[in-house]
Amino acid sequence: MPAKTINGKELGQKLREAMTGEVTQLREEGIVPHLTVIIVGDNPASKSYVNGKKKASAQTGISSDVIEMPASVSQEELLKKIEELNNEKAVHGILVQLPLPDHINEQLVIESISPYKDVDGFHPVNIGKMMTGDDAFLPCTPYGIITMLHSYNIPIAGKHAVVLGRSNIVGKPVGQLLLKENATVTYCHSKTENLFEYTRSADILIAAIGKPNMISGEHIKDGAVIIDVGINRKEDGSLTGDVDFSSAAEKAAYITPVPKGVGPMTITMLLQNTIKAAKGLSHLGG
Ligand code: NDP
Repeated sequence: MPAKTINGKELGQKLREAMTGEVTQLREEGIVPHLTVIIVGDNPASKSYVNGKKKASAQTGISSDVIEMPASVSQEELLKKIEELNNEKAVHGILVQLPLPDHINEQLVIESISPYKDVDGFHPVNIGKMMTGDDAFLPCTPYGIITMLHSYNIPIAGKHAVVLGRSNIVGKPVGQLLLKENATVTYCHSKTENLFEYTRSADILIAAIGKPNMISGEHIKDGAVIIDVGINRKEDGSLTGDVDFSSAAEKAAYITPVPKGVGPMTITMLLQNTIKAAKGLSHLGG
């Protein structure tokens, strides 16, 4: 039986519609949720991500602005701008689009954003709170993945979740969130030996490696849940994931497509985090 497709685009849209109501209510209370995005340089992919975030914000009634800085901007100037935004009451969420030019220390920039306004969930304070299970801004892609699993009523507790990739923004945090949900978690990475032995034993497989179609039907277990985070651009300009969709879909129970899978959920959770920041729900401050 072919897998059920987890439609991130449709689910994201549904969640955003619900958020519109929340935003309207906040606006009635005099709070206009506001997201400020900083983009440095003119990387076309970054520009397209930022446009997507701006458009999605507007759809839900979240106000947003984009601060464009030249690639030559000094680290000091960027940090000064972030400090200003940290102190600006009307700004609830701050997002610095990554990657940054080589002369800027990315980690320093992430740490300079107030944890109360860290809607990307990359600040060490939020990462620490996530690890201890406290209320925190969760990183958007892992948050989107967990939301997908919950929305499709996919059981997590007791299942073997295998995470391919250990980046700070996807692999590591998604494994932690699955652990919190009582999955038994295995992390794999580029140094893992016999990788496919792990993938074949996964009840839930998260592929976040950035290698086009590396995982196919022969590498997965019958009835597995496959979450494909990878975004890889093919020569013809179209996008493909880390998983070969058609062969994997023949064996899996659930699978996310690329595009229209994890990507739209990432933006949706950014909006959710911005609303959370505006509500000041996070006990980090707000
Ligand atoms: P990184 O490049 O930071 O991390 C990639 C990870 O994959 C590393 O941990 C690396 O291992 C591991 N890896 C690389 N090659 C292999 C291999 N052959 N076998 C096993 N593990 C391997 O990437 P990100 O985590 O930032 O992103 C991963 C993918 O997800 C990318 O395609 C990216 O575009 C996409 N992405 C999609 C998002 C969405 O919203 N859908 C959001 C963010 C990312 P090691 O640590 O040993 O080097």
